[in-house]
Amino acid sequence: MTLLHTETGGRGQLIEGKAIAEQIHANTADRVATLARRGIQPRLVFVRVGEDPASRVYVGMKEKTSKRLGLASETIVVSESTTEAELVDLILKLNEDSNVHGILVQAPLPKHIRETCVYASVKPAKDVDGFHPINVGKLMLGDPTGFVPCTPGGIHELLIRSGVRLSGAEVVVLGRGNIVGKPISAILVQKDKRANATVTLCHSGTRGLAAHCRRADVLIAAMGVPRFVTADMVKPGAVVVDVGVNRVPDPGSKTGTKLVGDVEFEELLPVVSMITPNPGGVGPMTIAMLMQNTVRAAEMATA
Ligand code: NAP
Repeated sequence: MTLLHTETGGRGQLIEGKAIAEQIHANTADRVATLARRGIQPRLVFVRVGEDPASRVYVGMKEKTSKRLGLASETIVVSESTTEAELVDLILKLNEDSNVHGILVQAPLPKHIRETCVYASVKPAKDVDGFHPINVGKLMLGDPTGFVPCTPGGIHELLIRSGVRLSGAEVVVLGRGNIVGKPISAILVQKDKRANATVTLCHSGTRGLAAHCRRADVLIAAMGVPRFVTADMVKPGAVVVDVGVNRVPDPGSKTGTKLVGDVEFEELLPVVSMITPNPGGVGPMTIAMLMQNTVRAAEMATA
């Protein structure tokens, strides 16, 4: 199916992240079964530093999915006071362990630890998060032998599998973060039949941000600003991907807070042609791509 961006608007279709993630999981589970016939089980090690509640939840969800798909997984928790050198030392040991195929260091790390140093210490062939400079470089170069980071990889897959035509499309990305904004821009700008878009990358220094947004056939919001994108910022018939995860006060709920995205979902729904629900859009795809990367790491290590 190739969806052209409608000019008329109407009620937008939901981009079903959960269902698309399940399609990817089915393929991953088949690949796990193929490896199992050779006596190989992909093994993913999570490294968590301290007890950040959101990190605990994220790692827990990833571990649960690993087990469901037949991957072996393990979480190593080290204390908040662990030094950068100690953390790097742990990673170097995991690099040398041939039973470990993928390593994921859960962000955020405590302030005294430089994320860039930690990511650079993971062996590129086990860097299933795609944050090692070699994998970042391969992404920029369009070299498919690297690992693509999971959230932008998942967004790309969502768009492709939803039939969104990317070649020639005007894509506007809000946010130049290293985890989402920069890598999704690098993916979509590649001279490749699955990409080939014209990408505008906006940030806090962008002038006339709303005008950029209104030109977008595909708008990807990855800023971490609750409900920033309103209906007047979106071209009728555009495709909108809401990546943001923001905790906001919600006096009516048990916890007193709730999670919202970077877009005003209800307001945008009648204007757009397609939109990701949030939650249930990008989040499940991030986990699906992590599982896929890990199985690929195991296949490559045992080829
Ligand atoms: P980040 O590194 O903090 O980057 C945020 C970007 O947004 C920065 O480039 C910043 O601009 C820009 N920005 C912030 N406020 C802005 C404003 N008012 N106008 C224009 N630009 C603005 O964040 P990230 O790690 O990329 O994450 C972005 C969001 O995605 C967060 O909500 C995060 O929780 C979410 N996320 C979701 C998933 C998932 O699986 N669903 C995964 C990863 C991240 P400057 O560079 O100029 O400061």
